[in-house]
Amino acid sequence: MEKNLYIVRCGEVALKGMNRPYFERVLLERVRSALSVFNDVESRWIGGLMLVRVPADVPREEVVRVASKVFGVATVSPATCCVPDMDAIGKAAAAYMMELIEKEGIKSFKVKAKRVDKTFPVQSPEIGRQVGATILKTCKVLHVDVHEPEVLLYVDVRSEGAYIYRDKIKGFGGLPLGTNGKGLILMSGGIDSPVAAFMMAKRGMRIEAIHFHSYPYTSQRAQKKVEDLCSVLAGYMGSIKMYVVNLLPIQEEIVKNCPEDETTILVRRFMMRIAEQMAIKKHDMMLITGEDLGQVASQTAEALVVTDAVVKMPVMRPLIAMDKVDIMDKAQEIGTYDISIQPYEDCCTVFLPKHPVTKPKLKNIEKSEEALDVDALVKAAVDSAETVLIEPKR
Ligand code: ATP
Ligand code: MG
Repeated sequence: MEKNLYIVRCGEVALKGMNRPYFERVLLERVRSALSVFNDVESRWIGGLMLVRVPADVPREEVVRVASKVFGVATVSPATCCVPDMDAIGKAAAAYMMELIEKEGIKSFKVKAKRVDKTFPVQSPEIGRQVGATILKTCKVLHVDVHEPEVLLYVDVRSEGAYIYRDKIKGFGGLPLGTNGKGLILMSGGIDSPVAAFMMAKRGMRIEAIHFHSYPYTSQRAQKKVEDLCSVLAGYMGSIKMYVVNLLPIQEEIVKNCPEDETTILVRRFMMRIAEQMAIKKHDMMLITGEDLGQVASQTAEALVVTDAVVKMPVMRPLIAMDKVDIMDKAQEIGTYDISIQPYEDCCTVFLPKHPVTKPKLKNIEKSEEALDVDALVKAAVDSAETVLIEPKR
């Protein structure tokens, strides 16, 4: 079967020194697994480049879209290749340009050649000149534009072959999934937490999620929204396990026994406690939240100190220093924004105090909690957790 060639380049994986073979192996597995939706795909590393061959009937854009979503992939180029010989390179380059003329009506180009194999007898600038001349001879409608070419045609001559390609389409970068432990994201239906999960996964961390609801005060549809968000995330990181906990019994206890203005911070502390116990049970190494310094009353510096004090496990807050507009842009980019803005209630908005404390004091909060049987409430919540397995959105 005829196949199209793609070059996949890693970003930081290339910097990993002694660990490089390990990172390369994992990245190859991840790319293979992502591309397994197309049958009969071949992929392997050759001299620092991953070469992927996909049946020619799969649209190029589709392959690029899937491959560039794999964490650890810096760029992807649809390419063609031939033996490292000037005649063959000229012919292959001209054929490549012919196809672009037919498809896109290209008029101008420039060749950028690189002799990676220093034993190749022709030097880089000369390769460029010769290939350019062959293209001009074959494709009469084209002219060379060294300043603003419509197509910048790369020719990389290596010992095992010459690669010809035009675009380097950017991937998300980062590190291959699974190279950096496993974390538990506290996942609301908002804009922030999905972005936080994405950012940690991009650094190679496997992700599980925990979601709190206050059914029947919050609806089934609100939970479905969170599942939809996880499903988008699963498109980047494979299926996600989500633990679902009803927080209502705890919220009712808090409302009954504690000062009204402390409700939110007290609820947040319970969320952290339950998440930590769940993480221990499921062998997650850290907690992740979408908190962002100063965004709301429960995310002032003082509130974060009080929230943090309740757990021993490290809490990652990848958005902590970002501006909301930048988080929103990121949510757009990764495809979670439109789901996040659907107007469904969150358990945090149930029993929302009129004037929440913005500068809570740990001592006061701990005092208020004395009215509650904290351990029993946490245990009951953890024991009642349900697990939902969320598959990638296709
Ligand atoms: P988000 O946009 O992620 O909902 P937010 O700006 O609404 O965040 P808060 O409601 O204060 O902020 O929540 C702060 C963080 O607490 C969230 O980013 C998330 O990690 C966690 N969180 C909030 N609500 C829930 C929930 N219902 N289930 C699980 N985690 C939650
Ligand atoms: Mg929220």
